[in-house]
Amino acid sequence: MRIHAIIVAAGAGLRAGGGVPKQYRAVARQPLLRHAVERLLGHSAITGVSVVINPECRALYDAAMAGLTLPEPIAGGATRQESVLAGLESLAADPPDIVLVHDAARAFVPDAVIDALVAAFADDDVDGACPALPQVDSLRRGEEGRFSGSVDRDALWRVQTPQAFRTPAILAAHRAAAPGATDEVAIALAAGLRVAITPGDERAFKVTEPADFAKAEVMTTFSSRAASGFDVHKFGPGDHVWLCGVKVPHDHGLIGHSDADAGLHALTDALLGTIAAGDIGDHFPPSDERWRGAASDQFLAHAAHLVRERGGLIDHVDVTLICERPKVGPHREAMRARIAEILRLGIDRVSVKATTTEKLGFTGRQEGIAAQAMASVRLPEQDA
Ligand code: MG
Repeated sequence: MRIHAIIVAAGAGLRAGGGVPKQYRAVARQPLLRHAVERLLGHSAITGVSVVINPECRALYDAAMAGLTLPEPIAGGATRQESVLAGLESLAADPPDIVLVHDAARAFVPDAVIDALVAAFADDDVDGACPALPQVDSLRRGEEGRFSGSVDRDALWRVQTPQAFRTPAILAAHRAAAPGATDEVAIALAAGLRVAITPGDERAFKVTEPADFAKAEVMTTFSSRAASGFDVHKFGPGDHVWLCGVKVPHDHGLIGHSDADAGLHALTDALLGTIAAGDIGDHFPPSDERWRGAASDQFLAHAAHLVRERGGLIDHVDVTLICERPKVGPHREAMRARIAEILRLGIDRVSVKATTTEKLGFTGRQEGIAAQAMASVRLPEQDA
């Protein structure tokens, strides 16, 4: 299933202060919009992210997205509704199965919110799904400083984004919609679509006022964690080895239960170490037949998922391969690119290095390959 996310970031949004549109204002040292993009890009179910911007903010956008691989941003319209429609139209030629429409200001959506949205589409009777929170405060009507009546809060929901829809259904609804809709659920309901309520999360709050930025800073007060990983695999018969997710021709293979990619195994352990979540063997036991010959990218992707589930951001990873042969240099950029792809990180956050041990020890005797890795992440203070 192809799931594409459109992030709407075309608003002027000067209400929040800071002198730039709020989506470009920094929270925890990076623009709000970048947080929103990284959150969605980092979710394993989402296959692509595009951003709708005000073309006048192109320079701000380019600076905010430096190092990320994204499609050309889409020029927004005068209203949010027009901007979303522009985003949807950009997908019309090759529509994904599901489209998520998301506000840049809700930059801190936990993965579980997206998991629940995606799961809602298992029901064929659902055209869309939207995260929402129950209304916990009592609601009263009031006029001229006096209460005049009560409202039953049980049937009321506080609606968040991303809002997810089957692409053809929301595109048709949007094209036919009258102006003035505040969100896609309103447009979907007006078109008679069926929209499921899925669990929202307080952390997905909308950053609007100056005070919200203070709240976002507190929420995104991260503590840094760094951890290392180490792995060794022994040479055996074969004509290639897997290293850092890249197939490298060699006159030997590496022996292991999985594909024996020592680089990715060391890095997986490093990431698991940042959240003290045990080691690769705990998550993917060698006794389990499922992992026989398995491609190690799934181990690394799982570790990244666990970090992001905790609200964590992966800052940087660094792998050192230790071997005499094969020569790593010619494959180094491919390895960086592959790790960046698996972790959904900018390539500037991925380092791959290699060294020999001057023909000393087991790597020097070419009995096997060793790898060590470091990962640095930021975890929310509340969790850390
Ligand atoms: Mg291993």
